[in-house]
Amino acid sequence: MSAGQLFQGRAARLPAEVWDVIVVGAGIYGLPAAYFLAQRHRARVLVVEDNGIPGECITVNTGGIIRIAYSDLDVLRVAAFAREIFRDPTARLGLSGPMSLGFVPTGWGRFVSAGAVPGILGELAHITGGAGGALRIVPIREYLDAQPAGRRENLRKIMDVDDSTHVLADEAGGFADGSAALDGFLTACLEAGVCVSLYSTVTEFLREGERVTGLVLERWSQQRGEREVVARETVRGDRIVLAAGRGNGALVRAAAGWEMPTFTSFHQIPFIRNSPDNDFAQRSYRVGPPGAHREVEMTDAPVISHWRDVYFRPEGDGLIFGTHHRELQPDDYRPAGGVLSGMRVGLDQVMIDSLLAAMPHFPVLSSQGVHLGRNPAEIPGGAYYMNPEELPFEGEVPGTGGAVFYAGSGCGTGFKLGPGVSWLLAQRMTGVPFADRVIASSALSAERATYFYPPGTSRDELLAQFRPIAQGGRLIEMGAAGIAVAHR
Ligand SMILES: Cc1cc2nc3c(=O)[nH]c(=O)nc-3n(C[C@H](O)[C@H](O)[C@H](O)COP(=O)(O)OP(=O)(O)OC[C@H]3O[C@@H](n4cnc5c(N)ncnc54)[C@H](O)[C@@H]3O)c2cc1C
Repeated sequence: MSAGQLFQGRAARLPAEVWDVIVVGAGIYGLPAAYFLAQRHRARVLVVEDNGIPGECITVNTGGIIRIAYSDLDVLRVAAFAREIFRDPTARLGLSGPMSLGFVPTGWGRFVSAGAVPGILGELAHITGGAGGALRIVPIREYLDAQPAGRRENLRKIMDVDDSTHVLADEAGGFADGSAALDGFLTACLEAGVCVSLYSTVTEFLREGERVTGLVLERWSQQRGEREVVARETVRGDRIVLAAGRGNGALVRAAAGWEMPTFTSFHQIPFIRNSPDNDFAQRSYRVGPPGAHREVEMTDAPVISHWRDVYFRPEGDGLIFGTHHRELQPDDYRPAGGVLSGMRVGLDQVMIDSLLAAMPHFPVLSSQGVHLGRNPAEIPGGAYYMNPEELPFEGEVPGTGGAVFYAGSGCGTGFKLGPGVSWLLAQRMTGVPFADRVIASSALSAERATYFYPPGTSRDELLAQFRPIAQGGRLIEMGAAGIAVAHR
């Protein structure tokens, strides 16, 4: 197998061939899908990416929480499949040399209160039963006693541990850095012979009858801060995968004339810096392949989620808090904030309400001296697309003659599932019967629900599917963005 090639810049021209598969988008769906199709199925694959790798995509800003605890046991299985890749990519992907996806093994826990949430222990037992020993339900005392002293102390500073009775403990959980993950998958793709066209925007699709047969891309370069189109190329492919993150809505519309239920949700995540009065214990982790690893030091706390609708995770010398989101109301406070790394920042009413509600249970949020940033521009946040069904999915895009497929997620839980959902798509595209795939159900596939809506479906109609928790909607987990991990 010959190595893949990168195409970029004014002089770049793609070979005139009909690719087996063209993948649009080099995020945590596009790159793994390209890799699986090329390496496992010997397909000639071209990835077309609007930016560099890692560029300015959602994956780069991900909170990167890697957990497997899902109530739907098929989703759990796919998360477990993907996590093995994050933890040991060299072996799992069958690469020739060491490679890292930036995994940091902090552990993960879901703290619950048996008295406050009737039936919760039964729910956890259902999850652990499906996890084949990878997860444990541990009484809170036993859990705390087993933690190192520094971590135990940190937990007490962060949350009201006495409010919990049990922990769903996942010692193999943690999080992975989005940029490192994309770097790693790019390496894997090139090794598998995938070609990648960078700074190339897909603008339209070619058709023969109903079937989509290729696409048009515009190659651009930066001129005086503006994008200038330097070339326009027509590329033909037998099949096309749309894995363009927030670009997928427009691409589905262009390729098939259908509307996808994605919409922008703005949320903020406060970052709690370590400070003399917090004095969090720090711990150093090795990240990266043996021999080429780096040390990252961070606050010693596991990634926690689903506790009073809040999660937190260490980031550098501090902590990031995330909470569920409701839609801003017309009379809500909207921050003037600022823009940080291209993202709007500042605490709006939703976050302020969430923080006030959480303070009694999270001492660190109310302790004196904790600052959430001296001014709004120091508080990171992000705007991203999510789909109302929350989970990512893969499938065929109707109305394209069986030529166009979709993989991705606008939701807050799409990173950890990315390589698993991409593998499901690769299995679909290579004719593996549904029943023989990683999971036999459609839990992460378009068959699960009606994802494609007739042209003209209004945003309000799409939003109607996204119900607040009070009306029976489910928690949408949020991630964190934009803070560099401290290096040593
Ligand atoms: C703040 C935040 C925190 C999160 N935290 C977590 C978390 O803790 N755990 C978790 O599992 N998930 C988390 N998520 C969700 C997760 O990050 C996303 O679901 C996932 O990264 C999406 O990956 P993607 O490949 O679909 O999109 P992207 O990473 O955006 O990749 C799509 C690519 O397509 C390219 N593209 C777009 N349009 C075109 C075009 N026309 N032509 C060519 N290329 C194009 C883009 O440039 C981009 O590189 C979080 C998301 C956010 C925003």
